[in-house]
Amino acid sequence: MHRLPDRYLWRMLSVPIKFGVRSDFRKELHKKVYEYLDNCGKPIRAPLAMYRKTAILLAWLALAYTALVFISSSWWQALLSSALMAAAIAGIGFNIPHDAGHGSYSGNAAVNRGMAFVFDIMGASSYCWHWKHNVLHHGWTNVPGVDDDINVGPLARLAPQQKHYGFHRLQQYYLWGLYGLTTLKWQLVDDFKDIILGRIGPRQIPRPKGMELVLFFVGKATWATIFLVIPLMFHSFGTVLTMYLVTNAILGVITSVVFQMAHTVEEADFVPPPPGAPEERIQNEWAAHQAETTVNFAPRNRFWTWYLGGLNYQIEHHLFPSVSHQHYPDIAPIVEQTCRAHNVGYYTHPSFRAAIASHFRYLREMGKPPEMAPA
Ligand SMILES: [Zn+2]
Repeated sequence: MHRLPDRYLWRMLSVPIKFGVRSDFRKELHKKVYEYLDNCGKPIRAPLAMYRKTAILLAWLALAYTALVFISSSWWQALLSSALMAAAIAGIGFNIPHDAGHGSYSGNAAVNRGMAFVFDIMGASSYCWHWKHNVLHHGWTNVPGVDDDINVGPLARLAPQQKHYGFHRLQQYYLWGLYGLTTLKWQLVDDFKDIILGRIGPRQIPRPKGMELVLFFVGKATWATIFLVIPLMFHSFGTVLTMYLVTNAILGVITSVVFQMAHTVEEADFVPPPPGAPEERIQNEWAAHQAETTVNFAPRNRFWTWYLGGLNYQIEHHLFPSVSHQHYPDIAPIVEQTCRAHNVGYYTHPSFRAAIASHFRYLREMGKPPEMAPA
């Protein structure tokens, strides 16, 4: 699956939506960023810092798991260990399999495939992730009907083009709670539904075959053994179920909020598929579309930059997903300057809190009936 570059995989998809013709902006951006990368003295993929980070995050998970399953003897100890474990799993997801899925963890395809499998061990199929995230989300960011990240069905209205229901007026309050169900749904429902139906949202994906199908089930079995079967050998069914739900509620909120803050905020564009597609193209060319549908946050906060695997530099991530996130803080000024020179939107929220507030206000705006919302 990951042996082919994404551009070949895109052709296999039934997404007949093309972008504007390549512009000087994209050419200049690539030239400048790769000039920097070629001369910075650090590898584009697999810098040493990534292996150090991998070791720290895996040790964090091992300690939290040990504390939760083997040491905790009171409810508050269990709750604290569960929160630490959820934060470790989210951190691993942001840094290791997310990068590996994009081919930016290592220069070696087999290492990337192995590290992408970390998603499976934590309960989410790396096969489905590849299609949902690397292809549909990165390919057509904030294009309703293609980008599955902005599709939560009728539960919430995340794009102006989506249908409005009366209860959306309260979505800025209740959606945070629903975020807590995201990873649970991935693990138990979405992955199975995606491979059985052969589609994600309305878009077709190839069903996994051969080794990919074997790996899908090996991943699910490994995850169930580590996170359900082993704990059941030491604790009651009720305790394991409660801690499983609590851990996933925290994990779901962390994961959803981090991705939503980059795309469903006031400053991000939403671009409907052109009515005359495939002949009619999206006006913007792909790179400008990526910059204008994505927003950075808290760029100067070293903890977030470390923990989120550069996902606070989402504009750089969307433009250069195959470059290790360790480079994002250094290439960000080049990207910003080039965007400004070409009149391409580039927006950064100064802090994590500012991005959360913008997400809240955006949800409130989308929750208003369309005739009440400003055009
Ligand atoms: Zn990504």
